[in-house]
Amino acid sequence: CFITLEGLDGAGKSTHIPWIEDKLRRAGVDLLSTREPGGTPLGETLRDLLLHRPMDLRTETLLMFAARNEHWRTRIQPALEAGRWVLCDRYTDASFAYQGGGRSLGAGPVRILEEWVQQGRGPDCTVLFDVPLETARERLLRGRAHADRFEREDAAFFERTRQAYHARVAAEPDRFHVIDARRSVDAIRAELEGILDALLRA
Ligand code: C5P
Repeated sequence: CFITLEGLDGAGKSTHIPWIEDKLRRAGVDLLSTREPGGTPLGETLRDLLLHRPMDLRTETLLMFAARNEHWRTRIQPALEAGRWVLCDRYTDASFAYQGGGRSLGAGPVRILEEWVQQGRGPDCTVLFDVPLETARERLLRGRAHADRFEREDAAFFERTRQAYHARVAAEPDRFHVIDARRSVDAIRAELEGILDALLRA
């Protein structure tokens, strides 16, 4: 089972990841927990460039997919083929949202790269931590001292990003679980528990 987590910066994904890992491992799942951009030594080097070096939008998109290709071929696909589960903090939906929407590249180029790199194989289940912009901004300002270059973008960027996430949900409603991430950690956990229990039973 291939699970991905998505959402705006500040939506609260990172708060829930250790709990999700723990819950799945306690249920006996052999889990690979990883993240994008990153997840491989080369991918982590690309992540550092992506988060801190200004670059052309096409370069940014290609580097995201370069990191993803390395991740998919050398770690995710082998893990899935070995019967393991994969939990990934961000995946291709983030490219549709951030490069396609936030940076206004549009979905077309992202779709072409997705097809080339993944050949139709994507996550089985995606949890979208959904929050209004104000909540995300407030949490970011409170929580993190060193913003990366995406987190310094303006409100319009994040509005486009959020809308692009919602377009992904509308296109593939069966794959997505949209969580209202304004709520308390406990309320969100209870909802995650239901989603994970259903996957464990499947
Ligand atoms: O989730 P995390 O904070 O680790 O993501 C790192 C940064 O990379 C975020 O600011 C996110 O917005 C950005 N990103 C992006 N495009 C992607 C994946 C991540 O702009 N495809």
